[in-house]
Amino acid sequence: MNQLMTDFETLERLIEKGKEQTINDNDEEEDETEMTVYCVTCGSDVQARTAIRHMERCYNKVCDVCPMKI
Ligand SMILES: [Zn+2]
Repeated sequence: MNQLMTDFETLERLIEKGKEQTINDNDEEEDETEMTVYCVTCGSDVQARTAIRHMERCYNKVCDVCPMKI
């Protein structure tokens, strides 16, 4: 449980850091090797960082990213 809390705090810190870095986006990240996740709605691979937003839009059937427009 403690480990989980620590991980969560680390994640929150990373997210905050990410917000600060949105202008300097290509700091040390390589977009081409970005982790992708499977969208349960349209079945396409989406970048992990945009996955939540993608899935929200997909769920609401306004996804303009996925190959299969619903
Ligand atoms: Zn999708």
